[in-house]
Amino acid sequence: MKTSVEPVLEIDLGAVTHNYDYLSKLAQKAQIACAVKDDAYGIGAKNVVRALKGRCSTFFVAYVSEGQIVRSAAPEAEIYVLQGVGTQDLPLLKAYRLTPVLSSLPDVQWWTSITDDDYALMIETGLNRLGLRPEEINALTSLQREKTTLVLSHLSCADDPTHPLNDLQLARFQALKSFFPNARFSLSASEGFLLGASYLQDMVRIGALLYGINRSEAVKSSIRPVMSVKAAVLQTAILPKGESVSYGAVFKAEKEMRLAVVGLGYGDGLFRCLGEGKGAFYWQERRLPVLGRICMDCTMCDITSAPDIKPGDFVDVLNAFYTADEMAVDADTIGYEIISRFGKGLRFRRLVKETS
Ligand SMILES: *Cc1c(COP(=O)(O)O)cnc(C)c1O
Repeated sequence: MKTSVEPVLEIDLGAVTHNYDYLSKLAQKAQIACAVKDDAYGIGAKNVVRALKGRCSTFFVAYVSEGQIVRSAAPEAEIYVLQGVGTQDLPLLKAYRLTPVLSSLPDVQWWTSITDDDYALMIETGLNRLGLRPEEINALTSLQREKTTLVLSHLSCADDPTHPLNDLQLARFQALKSFFPNARFSLSASEGFLLGASYLQDMVRIGALLYGINRSEAVKSSIRPVMSVKAAVLQTAILPKGESVSYGAVFKAEKEMRLAVVGLGYGDGLFRCLGEGKGAFYWQERRLPVLGRICMDCTMCDITSAPDIKPGDFVDVLNAFYTADEMAVDADTIGYEIISRFGKGLRFRRLVKETS
């Protein structure tokens, strides 16, 4: 039998629950809410929400359409819509019991003029992205402040524990508390979560850590990767000295080599900038450097160090030896973007390992 050559994307839902349980212990009394926007960073929102049944009861999405998907998997959960909402979203908000995160004075005024339903409020403390500015709080009526059930802000530099903006944002956040008598407070996402107890507040909003993305030594060994990617070797060949590989002939063999053509390219979400020696595939822990430019459907790699590789074998693209965080360093990006891109690949055979 000849094996199928489609690339494989595997999701380990056991790793999601493992990571959640590990984070729960670190969170002490703070509630853990899960960010499942962007299809749970490519992991698959429906599967993640399902895997966390009985554990997590609060989810964050970006858009109402995403909230609808989460609702179908979590009938009882609280679901917050981060990017705000418009008039056309109102029927879905109601039907799927989604709570908007409002980020401006006009939005609060509009929302409270049309409904008595709860809302969360994003307040700006230093990221200068979405958020009501602290000086605008005075323009909220006392009723609007009382109706605010969750106050959020978002950190700018939490990946650098020594950055002074962290403490400044925390201080600005603490100063908001006297204005909102009925609210819970949430400041941190994954990286802020690791900054210390004062950053935990009532609720942390976790995405990356849940999906096994993190570069900090403190938790790296305790967090398990969730996504792995494999691709088929379509062909192998001896590459004679002096021959070049792929478009533009930018790679030239200085000695005879063994080459494998792998069925995965930028059309599947592999960053094209990983070509020309920057990226690699893996054969267990053995590194197989990419040779020449990455194509839409194929990438060539050097298998001189693993001459036993043959057509039909699958090499690892993301595995325990080469995680999304490590690939991100080679691609000059962050692990978030690596998994979110692969997650959008339409040509993968998707395997979901259920929780045991
Ligand atoms: C995406 C997002 C999160 C989750 O961030 P991670 O770094 O993945 O934990 C939390 N809060 C807000 C407002 C977000 O946009």
